[in-house]
Amino acid sequence: MLDCIIIGAGPCGLSAAIEMQDRGLSVEVIEKGNIVEAIYQYPTHQTFFSSSEKLEIGGVPFINKELKPRRQDALVYYREVVRRKEITIRPFETVQHVRPIRDGFDVTSIRNGQTVTREARSIVLATGYYGLPNKMNVPGEELPHVFHYFKEGHPFYGQEVVVVGGKNSSVDAAIELEKAGARVTMLYRGEAYSPSIKPWVLPNFEALVRAEKVKMIFDATIEEITETNVVYSIGDEQLTVKADFVFAMTGYTPDVGLFADAGIEIDPETGIPVFDETTMESNVTGIYIAGVVAAGYDANKIFIENGRFHGALIADDLVRRLERETAQR
Ligand SMILES: Cc1cc2nc3c(=O)[nH]c(=O)nc-3n(C[C@H](O)[C@H](O)[C@H](O)COP(=O)(O)OP(=O)(O)OC[C@H]3O[C@@H](n4cnc5c(N)ncnc54)[C@H](O)[C@@H]3O)c2cc1C
Repeated sequence: MLDCIIIGAGPCGLSAAIEMQDRGLSVEVIEKGNIVEAIYQYPTHQTFFSSSEKLEIGGVPFINKELKPRRQDALVYYREVVRRKEITIRPFETVQHVRPIRDGFDVTSIRNGQTVTREARSIVLATGYYGLPNKMNVPGEELPHVFHYFKEGHPFYGQEVVVVGGKNSSVDAAIELEKAGARVTMLYRGEAYSPSIKPWVLPNFEALVRAEKVKMIFDATIEEITETNVVYSIGDEQLTVKADFVFAMTGYTPDVGLFADAGIEIDPETGIPVFDETTMESNVTGIYIAGVVAAGYDANKIFIENGRFHGALIADDLVRRLERETAQR
């Protein structure tokens, strides 16, 4: 039986794995994609807002020629960390259940349609935030030209594109789409620019709006998406904008199905799972929480910069617990 199974090979799950290994614990990481899947899913040309040093895990230096790395730099870095630290990853396995057994837990996952079962004394849930896009719950949202993730602007050259939302991911997408020659309208339900927009990005975006290269519409509530249009309202007025494609950048919600299945309590208001901040242990003894998923619905509280430190708290607690259990035997 392993000392620990970590679910999720994001930066915080990987950091936790290294902390365990450094303390002599046996650990494997199960990942539904491959390592740092969420970063892989970022827009292709994304630049981090953090400097490379603040994304480092396991004491491995992240040397980069620019202060702020790009997505591709981070993919290379985290691959190198996994290689150097010889972390055992079980990629392309989606964990379905975590069940208590005598002395630990049984973890069931699916790989290529086959069920795989593993056992560990403890579990770390590091499943991240980008599991489920926030739905607008409007007719037409499931049409094939409506996307919740943005990769790059090129395919949308010469197209009418509506971006729904008004925070960083919408603004970044709108800038890149405009650069690639799309005609962009941004529909945002807020009455002014969100204060969370990165301060070095907003002036560029505002310049595009002033130059009428991007149409920015505030106070807009989406009513319906059709094959050719987006119908929205401002107050009592109903309006229509042409749309060949729609990017609904309305945020994401952590997929906490696994948490509920494992018996972890979650605050319905905040989405925050019950855990002890000093050890990251949840209300289920032996199951820990790491990374952004500890922030519930507010992904702006925990990111790589601070979530990478959860692993050390967990590994210290696990060592204490296993020593205690050995002494009691
Ligand atoms: C565009 C963009 C830019 C960002 N820039 C920065 C930045 O500059 N600095 C910063 O600190 N943060 C940044 N962030 C936030 C950062 O990406 C997240 O905070 C970080 O990825 C959280 O790490 P994590 O390990 O907690 O979760 P994640 O990286 O989300 O990893 C969770 C992993 O769990 C896996 N998983 C989920 N469910 C299962 C399951 N059932 N079975 C198996 N595997 C599962 C997922 O596939 C995923 O790989 C940015 C985010 C975005 C979207």
